[in-house]
Amino acid sequence: MTPGIIERYAASLPVSATTPRITLGEGSTPLVRSSRIGPSIGLHQLYFKYEGLNPSGSFKDRGMALATAKAVEAGAKTLLCASTGNTSASASAYASRCGLRAVVVVPAGGIAAGKLAQALAYGATVLTVKGTFDTALKLVRQVADQPGVALVNSVNPDRIEGQKTAAFEIVEQLREVPSELFIPVGNGGNITAYWRGFSELARTQGSSRPQMHGAQAEGAAPLVRGKPVARPRTVATAIRIGNPASWESAIAARDESGGSIEAVSDAEIMAAHRRLAREEGLLVEPASAAGVALLLARAREGTVRRDQPIVCVLTGHGLKDPEALTRGLTIPAAVEPTLTALRRAIG
Ligand SMILES: *Cc1c(COP(=O)(O)O)cnc(C)c1O
Repeated sequence: MTPGIIERYAASLPVSATTPRITLGEGSTPLVRSSRIGPSIGLHQLYFKYEGLNPSGSFKDRGMALATAKAVEAGAKTLLCASTGNTSASASAYASRCGLRAVVVVPAGGIAAGKLAQALAYGATVLTVKGTFDTALKLVRQVADQPGVALVNSVNPDRIEGQKTAAFEIVEQLREVPSELFIPVGNGGNITAYWRGFSELARTQGSSRPQMHGAQAEGAAPLVRGKPVARPRTVATAIRIGNPASWESAIAARDESGGSIEAVSDAEIMAAHRRLAREEGLLVEPASAAGVALLLARAREGTVRRDQPIVCVLTGHGLKDPEALTRGLTIPAAVEPTLTALRRAIG
């Protein structure tokens, strides 16, 4: 049995011997070497950390395993979150695993079909609000002080702690620290978590730390603009966030690493999303392609270190957003059930 992140990394996490080792098998995701995108821009050491292969299909499971374990240890009966989709899918999965209730609050019409289906299927109480993710988060934070309720958004420090384990895995898999890491940024929790993971390794092992490059969508880029965005817009629903909860720590990761947080357009995101599927065999949801879109933009500018290992974090699985996968594509009309018709159709 593959140990989960609590078991594997207990020594580096805020757990005691009595914290339950809750797991759905999260973590231990593949680091896949790029076969075509990297070489096409002169990068021969480009890797993808494929976090879509976590149990509920996103990196959120790392933080959720730990947040759920700590909630159970504290006697909580309900996991509560606001979500652009993946936090709700993950919280619902871990709640069902542990016999807890999940209450998830999502922006009406603002989450991908697969994620909504997951929360419902795992048995969560799914509430939609007429407003943005930011509104939903503000509301749930105000009802989170009820007894027996654990708030499992990334404002919960256990989420960030669990998510930092992805940085540990990358260094184990590469057997060195990448020189640059590209990652999509919504609430800023994950870039904070990776930076913490790399920084802890630097302290304990004297290793280097990567430059952190965060990608926001052009219509939802508060960290790039330096002020909140009231009506965030982007096809990448997972990062459609106007007022990031981990604002300061995301900026700190950028500045301490000598990296950047930059905006990419929806067109660039969708182009990278398509290239990952067609040139690498990697299905991701649109938000996950934002880091790759930023890498491609920086490679065009010539600001990428070509001779060093570079990692792009692919945060969520493509099947979560089937509509995005098939946009502009059609299945050809059905053929007659004859050899001649099939041969003609194959061409
Ligand atoms: C949550 C999420 C992000 C953004 O992560 P933050 O911690 O909010 O910055 C990016 N991609 C996917 C698929 C996500 O689910």
